[in-house]
Order: sequence, then structure tokens, then C-alpha cells
Amino acid sequence: THFGFETVPEAEKAKRVYKVFENVAQKYDVMNDAMSLGVHRLWKDMLLHVMHPQPGARLLDVAGGTGDISFRFLNYVRYQQERQTRRAAGSVQTPSWQDISDKYPAEEDRPQESRAVVCDINKEMLKVGKQRADAMGITSGLSWVVGDAEELPFDDDQFDIYTVAFGIRNVTHVDQALQEALRVLKPGGRFMCLEFSKVTNPILASLYDAYSFQVIPVLGEVIAGDWKSYQYLVESIRKFPDQEEFKGMIEDAGFCCVQYFNFTGGVVALHSGFKL
Ligand code: SAM
Repeated sequence: THFGFETVPEAEKAKRVYKVFENVAQKYDVMNDAMSLGVHRLWKDMLLHVMHPQPGARLLDVAGGTGDISFRFLNYVRYQQERQTRRAAGSVQTPSWQDISDKYPAEEDRPQESRAVVCDINKEMLKVGKQRADAMGITSGLSWVVGDAEELPFDDDQFDIYTVAFGIRNVTHVDQALQEALRVLKPGGRFMCLEFSKVTNPILASLYDAYSFQVIPVLGEVIAGDWKSYQYLVESIRKFPDQEEFKGMIEDAGFCCVQYFNFTGGVVALHSGFKL
């Protein structure tokens, strides 16, 4: 490439990606905070804000790694559920049979429990994720599945929401991953992708370049003892299609109403589309 890094042949890419995340798994969360100065948390919060999932929703979080998106999803729906329950309870003065049946809907009318499935190709990342879930006391509504975004181990029409956060650029055949997303979503389901993208403002772009090429590999070496993995990271960000091109790819895969939102001046973009 014109940055002077070696170009990884396509057949090598999957192996390379596996090694990178195997190497960094234990330090992955610390590194995310260090490299983004904590801002990755805000980008992920924004994803949930735009998603606004309701109790009962089923999420598939592909390339879910150590679980950040799924943890936020479960928190969000639980908060929604509590709010709805409180609101229903607060509006009741003298309970009537109607109120009671509203508050305690029949079994079949109650929303199903929300569920999140974290799917990742890398066992080490999932292992760290499970440890985090245990530490947080998350005991239900969450499962961990080893699987490839290009060949998901799920039946058709299973999920309300498909997310992939900072994962799609690691996939060798992005079009194949998009096809799989479409397949496993229920009709009406939503595809949401958070990914590094193209900074539009030229001043911000040059600052961002300097930071990426001069600071990130150094942080990788100092914190994780791994310069190369973080050099790969920067390189893969630069190679990934920009906002408009990626939007076109999602449309080509068959999604409807595709749109995107830029965060932090385009450092990150959130793309969204629906399966009809
Ligand atoms: N989504 C998490 C987050 O936002 O913190 C983790 C993102 S991490 C940068 C990228 C993840 O993509 C890694 O855990 C890696 O193992 C996973 N990955 C790479 N290629 C994949 C593939 N083909 N299928 C599924 N996961 C993949």
C-alpha cells in the first residue's frame, strides 16, 4: 500500500485477523479505551440510542467480541421494561380488573424475554466476554456462539436486529456477510453497522492521520506488546470503503431505507438498513 505496509493476500487475511484478536483479546477492552480516549463508549451508546430496542427484541451481535454491544442492549431493554412497568403501575389509582389485566397481561401477551446472541469467530474474544458478563452478574438473556459472519450458524428469519460493531472491515468477503445478515433477520428486521469511516473535514483528517499512524501502533506496543496488530488495525481502517460506497454495498445486498450517521466528523459511521 502507499503507507508502506505489506499487503495481505486475501487468502491470508482471515488467518491474520484471527491471530490479531487472539493476541489482543486479554488487553482488548483496555486498548479500546486507551486508543479512543474512551470515545468508543459514546459511539456504542449512540448505536443503542438510534436502535431504541423494545422489550422482547432479539439481537444478533456479529463480531461481537467481548460483548460491549450486547451488554448495552440488555441494559437498554431492561431499563425500557422497568420504565413501562413503573408507568403502568403509576397510572393506577384504584385497581380495576382492567388495570390488573393490563399490568399482568396473559402469558401469551407478555413480551418475550429480550435475548442477545454474541457471535464471533474468535474463541479468545468470547472467553473474555463471558468473564466480563460473569463479573457484571448478567445471568440471563445472553448467549455466546463461535461463528463466521460469512456463514452464520443460525436459521433464516430469526432476529429483530443484527449489529456488527468495528467488525465488518475484518471480514474477507463483506458482500457475503451482508447476505448472511439479510438471511438471518426477520422481515422488518434492522441491520446496523458501526465502523470506522472517512473523515470529511481536512483539518480533522490530517490530525486523525497523524494520530493513527504515529500514536496507535506505539500504544499497541506499550500496552499490548504488539505493534503489528495495531498497525494492521490502522491499515484496515484506511482500506475500508467510505460512507457512500458502503451504503451502496448494503443496498446491493438487498436492504431497504439504507442511511448512515457520521459520529465525530466521520471517524465512525453508523449504517442502518431494513429487511422487507
Ligand atoms: N464488536 C466488538 C466491539 O465493538 O468491541 C468487537 C470488535 S473487534 C474490533 C472485531 C471482532 O471481529 C473480533 O472479535 C474478531 O474476532 C471478529 N471477527 C473478525 N472476523 C470475523 C468473522 N469473519 N466472523 C465473525 N467475527 C469476526
